[in-house]
Amino acid sequence: MKPDKQNLYRLPWSMNDNAIGWLEVTDICNIHCQGCYRQILGEGHKPLKQLKEEVMFLKKWRNCDGISLAGGEPILHPKIVELIAFITNLGMKSMILSNGYALNEALLWKLKKAGLTGVSFHIDSTQIRPEFKKEKITSELDVNELRLKLGRRMRKVGLYAHFGITVTKDNFKEIPDFLKWSIDNMDLINGITLIIFRGLPLADGIDYYSKGKKVEVNKESLGYTMSYEESKEEGIMAQDVYAKIKEYYPDYDAATYLGGSVNHDTYKWLIGNIIVNSKGKTFGAYGKKTVEWIQTVYHLFKGSYMVYAKKRIGKKIFLMSFLDKSVRKAFIKFMKYALLNPVRFFYPLNSFGIGIVQAPDMLPDGRVEMCDDCPDMCVYEGKLVNSCRLDEYRKYGELLTTKIDYEKSKEMAKKRATPFALHDN
Ligand code: SF4
Repeated sequence: MKPDKQNLYRLPWSMNDNAIGWLEVTDICNIHCQGCYRQILGEGHKPLKQLKEEVMFLKKWRNCDGISLAGGEPILHPKIVELIAFITNLGMKSMILSNGYALNEALLWKLKKAGLTGVSFHIDSTQIRPEFKKEKITSELDVNELRLKLGRRMRKVGLYAHFGITVTKDNFKEIPDFLKWSIDNMDLINGITLIIFRGLPLADGIDYYSKGKKVEVNKESLGYTMSYEESKEEGIMAQDVYAKIKEYYPDYDAATYLGGSVNHDTYKWLIGNIIVNSKGKTFGAYGKKTVEWIQTVYHLFKGSYMVYAKKRIGKKIFLMSFLDKSVRKAFIKFMKYALLNPVRFFYPLNSFGIGIVQAPDMLPDGRVEMCDDCPDMCVYEGKLVNSCRLDEYRKYGELLTTKIDYEKSKEMAKKRATPFALHDN
């Protein structure tokens, strides 16, 4: 069970015409996540004036449809409501990437009034956060109560809620349970993202250089590092996650992807939408034609590629049967199901988004494979940089280069000890 690029639509996003602009609002955070990609360097909250300039820069150079606000914990920024209103007034959507800890209902109403599109929550069992009694958190399911609480709060305010987890070797087997739970609560949750854990490998035989000089890299100097032992154990690939979902949900499929910047057969982003009703019955998934149609028509009429749908499409998705054979198959399955008991026609039906992200990998020759046409580029000193590697710019002024002992590296690669950096949201 492998995804096949022939059956997938390659998102048309590029450096200068990309649906997403990534805005780093603050480096302050109120919890701790495993392998966090952002260090607290004392920069704190960026001034509102600077943030507005960065939004304008992203609009100009990315032509984005939506701004992802990240950090640190963006909602801690004292001017977050004004910032959202500024983005809204420029005609763009806004999505806050939050751990949810400080997101109370009063703030949510203000954000909604300012035009916020939604919140993408990162809540998982690897986090250290005040609400968790650590000894009681043994699986992803143990944190579902907290997710539900936030999901309900979002629904009350009428905002889009998305949930993401970091996938590690420990919770990989729990992906189907997490997905089932999310689908069962589809009235509160629009979709999920599964971000595969990555870390800069620290190992004998891998040396890092900045401006031609060797630099000591360790967990203190750069947050997204992992020991050789850790990197040997991790290394889950996007297609492994895809196969795990397929095993439990044969109706699931990805419709679109972004590849890697080096190898032709890498999957960095794999995005699918499963078509499912309120009873948890799945009928199929979007095919590549649906996404191609949405992206193309949206670009034609709105002038940018699309991200963060504001409304759910419901049964109207079946109109795509004319163009998309995957949706047609789902429609036939739905009709057979509904004709057996016409009450079933009236069960709410929707599409549920499933994103898989495999962050950068270090290749055996020391090159780092990034996501091709990275959607999560942010502004750093007047340039666009990949947000997952921003701390290298902040600490060393540039991306680190690597010198590798080729023989040792080949050994490491055989053991899949080549992953690189943790993703961002
Ligand atoms: S920031 Fe990094 S992990 Fe995220 S999309 Fe860009 S290259 Fe991929």
